[in-house]
Amino acid sequence: MLLRHTPNEIKERKSLTVNPAKTCQPIGAMYAALGIHGCLPHSHGSQGCCAYHRSTLTRHYKEPIMAATSSFTEGSSVFGGQSNLIQAINNIFTIYNPDIIAVHTTCLSETIGDDVNQICQKARDDGKVPEGKYVIHCSTPSYVGSHVTGFANMVKGMVKYFSESTGEKKNQINIIPGWVEPSDMREIKKTAKEMGVKIVLFPDTSDVLDAPQTGHHAFYPKGGVTIPELKSIGESKYTLALGNFASEAAAKELENKCKVKYKALDIPIGLSATDRFIVALSRAADVDVPASITDERGRLVDIITDMQQYFYNKRVALFGDPDHLIALTEFLVDIDMKPVYIVSGTPGKEFGKRIKEVLKDTVPEAKVKNGANADIFLLHQWMKNEPVDLLIGNTYGKYIARDEDTPFIRMGFPILDRIGHSYFPTVGYRGAMRMLENILSALMDRQDRDAPEESFELVM
Ligand code: SF4
Repeated sequence: MLLRHTPNEIKERKSLTVNPAKTCQPIGAMYAALGIHGCLPHSHGSQGCCAYHRSTLTRHYKEPIMAATSSFTEGSSVFGGQSNLIQAINNIFTIYNPDIIAVHTTCLSETIGDDVNQICQKARDDGKVPEGKYVIHCSTPSYVGSHVTGFANMVKGMVKYFSESTGEKKNQINIIPGWVEPSDMREIKKTAKEMGVKIVLFPDTSDVLDAPQTGHHAFYPKGGVTIPELKSIGESKYTLALGNFASEAAAKELENKCKVKYKALDIPIGLSATDRFIVALSRAADVDVPASITDERGRLVDIITDMQQYFYNKRVALFGDPDHLIALTEFLVDIDMKPVYIVSGTPGKEFGKRIKEVLKDTVPEAKVKNGANADIFLLHQWMKNEPVDLLIGNTYGKYIARDEDTPFIRMGFPILDRIGHSYFPTVGYRGAMRMLENILSALMDRQDRDAPEESFELVM
């Protein structure tokens, strides 16, 4: 029982975080960069940072994550990393031949104050970037924000570097999917195709981090948004930014730069958020919602109707990324569950406000916290004082689930102790059906386990 020392008594903390409900910025930047076709992410800092970011992504996606590093030594830590980065850019294009290098910073290079924009420009001026190849960058100091902020910064970097305003309008819609799984990105593309809408999804990690096994290693898998597609986003009719925390900064940048209007929506997790996404996409593209999607929604509503009696009034604790938690909280309220504890390590004032809106006064006892001291330790303490029926969060929740003997569903990032999660979507109506099945199975497995012999039922 690893967390058996967690005390019930809650003390006010200002400068101590225990078991944070977030991870570091560059991981998000690295994940977003992998969503560009032919991209090699580059970590401007020490080798240790890059090794940690790559290994966390590798352990979650069960795919080898390729990334390069400026490999700071003591000297570069004191005098700056310019020569390391320029050397790295030269080596990477010479040896690994990517279409693009996406550079993100780390705590160390940010603390030194390296001007990465200037260094990248110097590399271009010195002829280290071959014709037709690109180097982009974003700033990701990990002592602020979280992996979600890092993701948002890299996507904003894509807009800054590539979007062009030609004055021409293409009949296409931009969708910024937020930090979701490759399978979710595929699901969003499928839905748009079903509706007959041409979209540019960026970033797009489908067929990069869930590429099919062919027996041959592809250093740059076939997936990812292409550079011509990224250049065209300034000519799109409209942008849908899914998840304010991960996607809105890029959409706002594009609106300012190329006058492409945008709408920020919740990630389409659950019934209501998916409804809003489908309606927004049909309006933006001026198309009708096809019967096949309406039927799918109907099937989801039917499943909810069948399951609702088991969900009613069940207390749930959640932790993870703000965009996921907002949509998930609304979904749990929709199915009559009670999200009583909601914790995210990602800072941002909007979080509490949005959670309040989606709770719609249905759970007055709900405790909501985000930012630096909103950690898994605090969530555990809340659960010790007033237990819940279900815990939903990333792999780190397993210790609490074991200590408190609470049913647990893995969702979010990272999931380090299971395989397959990134292959099944949680977005859209189909994703919601899968989530419902997981929630009900967790609750009923517990009911079976605890049932006395005389009420151990075949049909429940
Ligand atoms: S928190 Fe900073 S120093 Fe630590 S791994 Fe992340 S970027 Fe590197």
